[in-house]
Amino acid sequence: MTDEVLVLNNNYQPLNVTSWKRAVLLLYLGKAHPMDSPVQPTVVRLNHFVRRPMPILRPTRKGIFTRDGYRCVYCGTNSLPLTIDHVIPKVRGGKDEWDNLVCCCTKCNNAKGDRLLDEAGLTLRNKPHRPKCLPYISYHKFMAALRKPEWTDYLAPYAMSVA
Ligand SMILES: [Zn+2]
Repeated sequence: MTDEVLVLNNNYQPLNVTSWKRAVLLLYLGKAHPMDSPVQPTVVRLNHFVRRPMPILRPTRKGIFTRDGYRCVYCGTNSLPLTIDHVIPKVRGGKDEWDNLVCCCTKCNNAKGDRLLDEAGLTLRNKPHRPKCLPYISYHKFMAALRKPEWTDYLAPYAMSVA
C-alpha cells in the first residue's frame, strides 16, 4: 500500500496521486520534499506553486456508483448487477449529468423503462447531486484516498460527508 504517494501543491492543495517511483523522482530532482518519511514518503509537497485550472468533474459510471454507495436509489438493494439509470430518460431529454444519473438495480431499471418517476410510481431515496471533491483526482479515487489515514488530513477539507 506504500506504492502510492499523494502530491500536494505548494499551497498544500492535493494535486494528484502518483506512484512511489515518480514521487521519489520528484524528490531527487529537487521539485518536491517529503511530508513524512524521506525514505518511504506517502505525501510529498511541491517546492513551487503549480497553477492548474480546476477541471470539471465529469460523471463516470464508477463515480455514480461511489456517490450512491453501490445501492439502488429506488429500492435500496445492493444486489448485483447494478446499472445506471437516467432519472429523466434520455429519450425525454434527460442529460448525462450528475443530477440525472443514479445507481439503479436491473429490476427497477426495467420497471421504470422510459417513464418519468411519477409515471412509474418511483421515488428517489437520495436526490442526485454533483459530489464535492477535488476534481484533479477522479471521484472514486478521491473517496478511496480519503480513507487512507495518512492522507485524510490533506483531503478531508475538500470532501463532503457522504450520506
Ligand atoms: Zn432497485
